[in-house]
Amino acid sequence: MKIAVLIEERCKPKSEAFAYLSRYAGTCGSECIQVHEDKCKILETACPPCLIRAKLCPGDAVKIINLPEELGTDMIHRYSLNGFRLFRLPTPSKDSVVGILGPNGMGKSTAINILSGTIIPNLGDWEAEECMWEDVIKTLPRGELRDFLTLISDEGVEISVKPQYIDKLPKVIQGEVGELLKGVDERNLLEEMCERLEITHLLKRNLPQLSGGELQRVAICATVLKEADVYLFDEPSSYLDIHERMRIVKLIQELSETKRVLVIEHDLAILDVLCDLVHIVYGDKGAFGIFTPPRTTRTAINAYLDGYLPEQNVRIRDKPIKFQTHTERNTERGIPYLEWGNLEKKLGNFSLKTGEGKIHRSEVVGVVGANGIGKSTLVKILAGEHEADNGWITEEAKISYKKQHVEADYEGTVREWLDIELGARWRQGDFNVNVVKALGVDKLLEQVTTTLSGGELQAVSIVICLGRDADLYLLDEPSAHLDANARMEAAKAIRRTIQSNEKSAFIIDHDVYFIDIVSDSLLVFEGKGGVEGLAKGPYNLRKGMNKFLATVDITFRRDHDTKRPRINKLGSRKDREQRAKGEYFYTE
Ligand code: ADP
Ligand code: ADP
Ligand code: MG
Repeated sequence: MKIAVLIEERCKPKSEAFAYLSRYAGTCGSECIQVHEDKCKILETACPPCLIRAKLCPGDAVKIINLPEELGTDMIHRYSLNGFRLFRLPTPSKDSVVGILGPNGMGKSTAINILSGTIIPNLGDWEAEECMWEDVIKTLPRGELRDFLTLISDEGVEISVKPQYIDKLPKVIQGEVGELLKGVDERNLLEEMCERLEITHLLKRNLPQLSGGELQRVAICATVLKEADVYLFDEPSSYLDIHERMRIVKLIQELSETKRVLVIEHDLAILDVLCDLVHIVYGDKGAFGIFTPPRTTRTAINAYLDGYLPEQNVRIRDKPIKFQTHTERNTERGIPYLEWGNLEKKLGNFSLKTGEGKIHRSEVVGVVGANGIGKSTLVKILAGEHEADNGWITEEAKISYKKQHVEADYEGTVREWLDIELGARWRQGDFNVNVVKALGVDKLLEQVTTTLSGGELQAVSIVICLGRDADLYLLDEPSAHLDANARMEAAKAIRRTIQSNEKSAFIIDHDVYFIDIVSDSLLVFEGKGGVEGLAKGPYNLRKGMNKFLATVDITFRRDHDTKRPRINKLGSRKDREQRAKGEYFYTE
């Protein structure tokens, strides 16, 4: 089955794509391509020449796709003639945390809207006047999903959602944190949850005053306080440090003992410990998405990394994502580039100290530690943006810096933005292949910067940071808002850029998989967030991880098939053995 998909954002009047399609509208007797006022259409029944014309439409606005045949009648929903199509659904299940793993733009939110009863699915008949739950239920085999949808159609279900982009919350909700939370405390758990999420000290503050991590914890608290049948957490880990991520894991797991819980999460170490079952969603961004039946978490993540889904016999990526054990890593370092010692800095009530350390050419230093412990501050001192109160640094580096909270500070198309920031150099060569294309930014060139999603904006910001001419690259939380696949691509892009140009980089991040792939060595922060921070290292990755994970109090092993790190269950045999040996980050 061939389908024609139009990405509307890329096909607005005045766009190249619109002009192109207008030229062919009505040229063939069957009106395969049509343009009415500001909208283009490509008929399903289009003749082969028109399909080829449509396929050649500029600006990546049209996709002509062969759908896998076995999908048959499994279409759940379709937005319009050339709109997005969703196949199959995830199943909220009793007694388990159900995870959803897959890129953005593949129908996760659509599925959630269906499971909450906001959208009654049309089974592909986008022109239907009224859709009926009965018709949908009839098409499903007996089982948990069918029972659940029956429940929606009979009684309706309440769903409590922690939205993906919490940055938007202060713009739509105003008021004091405490008042807001009191207003949603249907389960009478306000005090307990505030304590567990460590937000009690924030209750008197206003929403816009909170940092990203604080806002995330408040949003999670509000979600849990509501009385509902299903709880959905869309990216609960963004902006949280690993201590906080582990606390959220425990909270969500406990919630699942009495409630149905769905989680969308791109930090694979967290998804791995959190979920019992995982649905992978795959397809083509903006065109169609297919939910696979649930697998156990380990097999789902391994298949995802491998890039091949054996049950469906589909390849979702050209190459597997590989992890390296420590023995496989290159430990040779280039010449030292920048050295520092005994730096000190006071900011309000917070004080930062460092030991002696250095970074070499071609070296990527991962920077890990709790929120508010001084990571950004130190990196800014090394970059010459802040002056230290005490201590020494060998030289001032020419830096390129990606801030933690990315913004589109240019209004226009991505292509223009890249031209302005980087000149012509992004257009060709290794940089174009290894960075621009690897991060999918080549597909965003005609898009207006203000319409980019959080993940897309992050990808463009990484490209701009790496594309600038500098000696030292500082990327503050590059994994935020990227999906799991984009994270791995970004990690590889950073490594390649730094190594091939003999530059140096500091990468601050909380995603352990990301840090494991990107880093040669590790700068570890100890202390207490908001009070004091002590930066130690850089150490080699193994030693650094051991120091860091001891402060978090978790141990990792490596999966024997994929070599990916996996968090050990607290108190399990492996956990106890590794603690006894001081091997928090196990290597084989
Ligand atoms: P995800 O949550 O995985 O990012 P979404 O379900 O939000 O995916 O979106 C999947 C696709 O459906 C996107 O291409 C989006 O543009 C399209 N889409 C979402 N909502 C609508 C809508 N109301 N009308 C038309 N298209 C939509
Ligand atoms: P991290 O990057 O590890 O999350 P930061 O380096 O951004 O932490 O901040 C460390 C601490 O310093 C935080 O408690 C923060 O509130 C505080 N801080 C940062 N900048 C200032 C400032 N200009 N004035 C007062 N306090 C600050
Ligand atoms: Mg979404």
